Amino acid sequence: MMIVMQEGATPEQIAAVVARIERAGAKAHVSSGEFVTVIGAIGDDRELIAALDIEGEGGVEKVVPILKPYKLVSKDFRGAGATFEIGGRRIGGDNFCLIAGPCTVESRKQTLDTADVVNGIGVTMLRGGAYKPRSSPYTFQGLGKEALEILAEARERTGLPIVTEVMDVRQIEDVVGVADVIQIGARNMQNFDLLKEIGHTDLGVLLKRGMSATMEEWLLSAEYIAHGGNERIMLCERGIRTFETQAYRSTLDLGVIPAVKQVSGLPVIVDPSHAAGKRDLILPMARAAVAAGADGLIVEVHPSPETALCDGPQALYADTFAAWVADVKRVIDVMGKVIAGTEPATVAG
Ligand code: PEP
Ligand code: MN
Repeated sequence: MMIVMQEGATPEQIAAVVARIERAGAKAHVSSGEFVTVIGAIGDDRELIAALDIEGEGGVEKVVPILKPYKLVSKDFRGAGATFEIGGRRIGGDNFCLIAGPCTVESRKQTLDTADVVNGIGVTMLRGGAYKPRSSPYTFQGLGKEALEILAEARERTGLPIVTEVMDVRQIEDVVGVADVIQIGARNMQNFDLLKEIGHTDLGVLLKRGMSATMEEWLLSAEYIAHGGNERIMLCERGIRTFETQAYRSTLDLGVIPAVKQVSGLPVIVDPSHAAGKRDLILPMARAAVAAGADGLIVEVHPSPETALCDGPQALYADTFAAWVADVKRVIDVMGKVIAGTEPATVAG
């Protein structure tokens, strides 16, 4: 449940509410706004409300139950349109988060060339995989630590925040200091131990939806991360498994964009590259995602997709990416959003 404190509630009154929540065996989550402090009491709402009987406590304005299974990531708790900052970029609200880069870091040259191109066009963040979740053990698995060094160089050179995937808790230590955003891949959305560990980091998180996960399962995975203390989470819709296997790689669930935004305060980033699996389908899906209310896009870009070691058929050509962005930007403009990182006030480096 959510305890909204009165404007001007004192630190002592807030501490008293927190102590009471903890005595009831629940976890208190204090969120201090400019005027009002909201305290989340995380536990089973029905039992908690009975145990706490907190209405009327000094400084308490009102008590609002959150009956959804996810609490901290719910719109009730976070409010709509709450924004946060990652690597000097504002995420959510009217800020559009455009993430671009290669599927996988293959070499220093391939990564830096792509980074220079996307930076010159004006994107929000650079993506690049160091540890790759491949379906076959015989395909390229990523360069690991060597890739992280290359990404660190790309970040230094362009000022772009870095998004990179972590598949295992043992990799977290390596990416801290290089990555601004940890990507949790679709295959790991329900790796709960990984989610818990990431919840203890202070990096941004891009949580991809599992390919057969319901919206509620996806939000409960986000709740694991938020429960650990990390609330800078971007949800990422990347296509789900349906009966279609030939026409495209996965079915981009456009409906989930407005649906998840109705119940959660988290920004939604759409990955049309992995949904489409085919280069030519990415632009129309990107336009549709933006029109459906997406807060950002993540797309794969490569200087020479024909030679890519992973996901070449869906990689956008680096040399025509400017025209691609210009096309999608028309829809971004219609939606009243601005690509974060391109507005003069927040350009980094
Ligand atoms: C990726 O982003 O390269 C990737 C493997 O994505 P997903 O987990 O959505 O398949
Ligand atoms: Mn990929």
